Amino acid sequence: MADTAHSNCVALTGVWVRLPHPAPTVGATHETQRVPHVRTIELVESALRASDAGMRDADNALLHGVAIKTIRRWRRLYQRRGLPRGQTHTNVPCPKCDEAVLDGAAYAELLGWYLGDGHISRGRRDVFNLHVINDKRYRNDIDGIAAIMARVKLGGRPHRRNVPGAVIVTVSWKHWPCLFPQHGPGRKHERQIVLEDWQRSIVEAHTAAFLRGLFHSDGCRANNWTRKVVAGESKRYDYPRWQFTNNSADIRGLCCWALDLVEVPWRQSNWKTISVSTRAGVARLDQLIGLKS
Ligand SMILES: [Zn+2]
Repeated sequence: MADTAHSNCVALTGVWVRLPHPAPTVGATHETQRVPHVRTIELVESALRASDAGMRDADNALLHGVAIKTIRRWRRLYQRRGLPRGQTHTNVPCPKCDEAVLDGAAYAELLGWYLGDGHISRGRRDVFNLHVINDKRYRNDIDGIAAIMARVKLGGRPHRRNVPGAVIVTVSWKHWPCLFPQHGPGRKHERQIVLEDWQRSIVEAHTAAFLRGLFHSDGCRANNWTRKVVAGESKRYDYPRWQFTNNSADIRGLCCWALDLVEVPWRQSNWKTISVSTRAGVARLDQLIGLKS
């Protein structure tokens, strides 16, 4: 599914704006009061476009499912003071604690990398380190990991450490557990991995990015072959396929869910491996996530 496929249009007081996600339910439930909202850049931009087009703050707040004071703050920061979108002050603000704006595409991909080959460790003074390890042969992917880390923690400066056969990209931040609530003691396949609603919404809007993180970390694209009897003769056919291998049934389930979202057929080829083997499925996945490089 294309990233824009979810976009729906809403008309209010004569102004049309495109929403990146289905409009959130208005009126906080008990659940939404307890869990802080995470707002994506797309949501903020949509609200600012509506405001530019003359929508009143109250209507805009209703349309985007945020408080009027939030709309006013966005207008103050981004329209009047002209800050780069997503930046609020020098301390890197957190999308959960400080209502900073989250880059949805970068986050979706980083989530994929985290679930594949990432982990969070606790450093000194309540600072957490997010590490993603990747095969040292894939230099572009390593550059890509550092780049998306710096888009999720705005202005963060990830560092790289060589270990045998691999590079670990690390960036520290107090707020990593806010963005990766799946962090917990023990190994990922020994604990439950369930995405929160706000994470699911981001993955639904940026499914290709999420799949890129998953398949570029714990996946491979390899050639496979099979024999078929054609006109009485056994012939060998070679074909590429993507495989995603992970010990966690929950993470495999998320991979299958995301493949379903973009309508790529898959099958479980052994207990820990998900395969995409049809010609059309492999071509579609190639197009969506690119090759490892
Ligand atoms: Zn936080």
